[in-house]
Amino acid sequence: MHKRLFTPGPTEVRADVLKELSTPQIHHRSPEFGELYAGIQAKLKQLLFTENPVFLFTCSSTGAMEAAVTNLVGKRCLNLVNGAFSKRWHEITEANAVPCDAFSIDWNKALRPEMVEEQLETGKYDAVTLVLNETSTGLMNPIADISEVVARYPEVFLLVDAVSGMAGVKIDTDAWKLDFVLAGVQKAFALPAGLAVAAVSERALARSEHVPPRGYYFSLPNMYKQHKKNQTPSTPAIPHMFALNAQLANILAEGLEERFARHEKMAEVVQNWAKRHFDIYPEEGYWSKTLTCIRNTRGISIGELINNLANNYNLRIANGYGPIKEKTFRIAHMGDTQLDEIEGLLKVIETIAEL
Ligand SMILES: *Cc1c(COP(=O)(O)O)cnc(C)c1O
Repeated sequence: MHKRLFTPGPTEVRADVLKELSTPQIHHRSPEFGELYAGIQAKLKQLLFTENPVFLFTCSSTGAMEAAVTNLVGKRCLNLVNGAFSKRWHEITEANAVPCDAFSIDWNKALRPEMVEEQLETGKYDAVTLVLNETSTGLMNPIADISEVVARYPEVFLLVDAVSGMAGVKIDTDAWKLDFVLAGVQKAFALPAGLAVAAVSERALARSEHVPPRGYYFSLPNMYKQHKKNQTPSTPAIPHMFALNAQLANILAEGLEERFARHEKMAEVVQNWAKRHFDIYPEEGYWSKTLTCIRNTRGISIGELINNLANNYNLRIANGYGPIKEKTFRIAHMGDTQLDEIEGLLKVIETIAEL
């Protein structure tokens, strides 16, 4: 029996979107492929409020994070860390022998523009990595304010992991001058895992031509060359592209403002519920719109709750991430999930945990 996913990735995928994966194969050097690619491109630009090219990566989000730091850091990268995924970005940067420093704060606190300013003032950096929505803690960093600070340092590129936010909240790519903004499609896009997308600024593409080459598969100059012909350097995940194209059409048909408003509403309902029965992990004012990380103030067994939901109700939520496992649990309210489904889930948790 299928267990309905309320996890912050992968998320539940609609049956009609799943069916797109079984579209008969086309050849990746054919005109039909070029049409598919161009169709996806136009819709992604709308979703991301950008004129920049949006590249497709045949990998999960982590691969696109790696592409950002290997292609776009010339001098030294500042990794802003306040959760597991921003920490991962520091590890990726280090693993690729790209010069970098981590600036770390408590996981339940948001990064502030002043903190970023203080680091950039040192003049050491020409790139900074930021996670928009920390999926490990349910915290959303104030990206608009941080982007204003970064824009005051013309040499510094802003590289953003928007994995669990993109397609659930507005990403104002051009207004915020994001040089690289990426997401895997198994989160708020509500697609099967295996594909990532990233919008890349013109100046970032220009720098990527001069940064010493670090790797082959994720070379932005190669990707850009093919992109201009509506192609990819190697064989992409064509089945996923059919699904992405269809789902982008669904997203635009729902209406971007409507979609973002639905996410806000679901967040409000879950967060009010969490405040009533437990508490919320990150500091107030920075709660995510796409998932809630709930503090286990009642000391219940989260593992048992998760198993009970899965085995008796076919519903799956997530435990806390890494060091905050059992101390917290997470409910995703993103993708195609509707308010009534969320309300149903909360009722079941109330019954099981006797709230
Ligand atoms: C899920 C997630 C990732 C890692 O994604 P993969 O697709 O598993 O590589 C990175 N960053 C954030 C914010 C995430 O939510």
